[in-house]
Amino acid sequence: MQTIVLTGGCQCGAVRYSLDQQPQNVHICHCRMCQKAVGGPFAIICPVMKTAFRVTRGAVSYFRSSDVGRRGYCCDCGTPLTFDYPDGEDIGVLVGTLDEPNRAPPENQYGNESRVSWYSGLVQVPGDRPTYADNPQMLHRITSTNHQHPDHETDIWPPTV
Ligand SMILES: [Zn+2]
Ligand SMILES: [Zn+2]
Repeated sequence: MQTIVLTGGCQCGAVRYSLDQQPQNVHICHCRMCQKAVGGPFAIICPVMKTAFRVTRGAVSYFRSSDVGRRGYCCDCGTPLTFDYPDGEDIGVLVGTLDEPNRAPPENQYGNESRVSWYSGLVQVPGDRPTYADNPQMLHRITSTNHQHPDHETDIWPPTV
């Protein structure tokens, strides 16, 4: 019986996973492939040994982004989940899919040839308000009809009424 250190999954909850070790060398990757794969300016990759990565619900689908690398995602909701080299010993989960992303802070950066020019200014971009702080009705419409899987394990998902 191994100890679950971290858990995570996709937005819809069809794919859930657990990690039996703390990720090592969590890193930001600015490379163009990661930008495309996550639909953002960079990926944050949390590597663990493949023996420590367990899919606990559903199955990860893969896009082979090169002959040596592949990108895991949920085929139901499209959430990017992982990056790995199939021949390699470790697999990287994407930090935003962790239930507790605060527990995997980046320690390094790679792919800097593709880093967006405005990256260094991101923390100075104004804005410190919560989601829809100025539109509580919209916030209620979203939260009362939320289809995102919660940030913890569930017995039955989606819940049956
Ligand atoms: Zn999903
Ligand atoms: Zn990359």
